[in-house]
Amino acid sequence: MSVTDQAFVTLATNDVYCQGALVLGQSLRNHTTSRKLAVLITPVVSSGMRSVLRSVFDEVIEVDALDSADSVRLALMQRPELGVTFTKLHCWTLTHYSKCVFMDADTLVLCNVDELFDREEFSAAPDSGWPDCFNSGVFVFRPSLKTYDLLLRFAAEHGSFDGGDQGLLNSFFSNWATADIGKHLPFLYNLSSNAVYTYVPAFNHFGRDAKVVHFLGATKPWNYKYNLQTKRVMQDGTTSGSFHQLSFLALWWNIYSASILPLLEKLQKMEESE
Ligand code: UDP
Ligand code: MN
Repeated sequence: MSVTDQAFVTLATNDVYCQGALVLGQSLRNHTTSRKLAVLITPVVSSGMRSVLRSVFDEVIEVDALDSADSVRLALMQRPELGVTFTKLHCWTLTHYSKCVFMDADTLVLCNVDELFDREEFSAAPDSGWPDCFNSGVFVFRPSLKTYDLLLRFAAEHGSFDGGDQGLLNSFFSNWATADIGKHLPFLYNLSSNAVYTYVPAFNHFGRDAKVVHFLGATKPWNYKYNLQTKRVMQDGTTSGSFHQLSFLALWWNIYSASILPLLEKLQKMEESE
């Protein structure tokens, strides 16, 4: 049974991050989600990439770069470092949905995670670097123009202690750590790939139940090289990849090569024949 008023939402501000969004969307499809899939993009995303996105997502929604519609936005324009952050906040404007789960474009689901919609705003999993903060790569929220407006005002007034959306959202939903344990998602719903080797025994004990992998940090799956013949991620000298980390990377690349590359190649052929 499909639920049309709830959606998984991701964000890709450029064609590079679209690759991540596509793999995430495909992973949700592979595990037969009953919810809608929506992706927020900005005007710089190419028209070809938009058509590929439309074949995986139910909705491809262009959001404006900063404009000067009102004073709050104007104040935000003085803070260019909050640009991508601001873009993520647009997810609160999707008021044709009653409830959504936001997922970073560098995440991947390992099983069906539709039960996340049983949670309330604002639910998220602890951050592995500072567990009294939540990680903003996966969160449950309720679209609301009122909340959106409050978030913009808060951003303009206080900025973000880490310069990104995570600092801002943690300051805004500041009672997350203590108010309601029901809003703490299990870490398994946002397993950061670096946590795998900071606490190996815990990973060995619990890791098999992982539900969402998050490739957080500077090097994203699409930055690696992959051998299409051997189906292996190629390690360079800088990759201190543990076995598990590499197997998550291989999973990302499996989906990319099996389901996304063919779409991109088809697009390329069409563009060449024009
Ligand atoms: N993002 C984007 N374009 C960018 C940077 C970030 O679309 O240039 C979006 C994307 O959805 C990404 C999220 O913002 O997953 C958060 O950024 P990132 O995952 O790079 O941060 P990390 O999780 O590594 O802290
Ligand atoms: Mn991320």
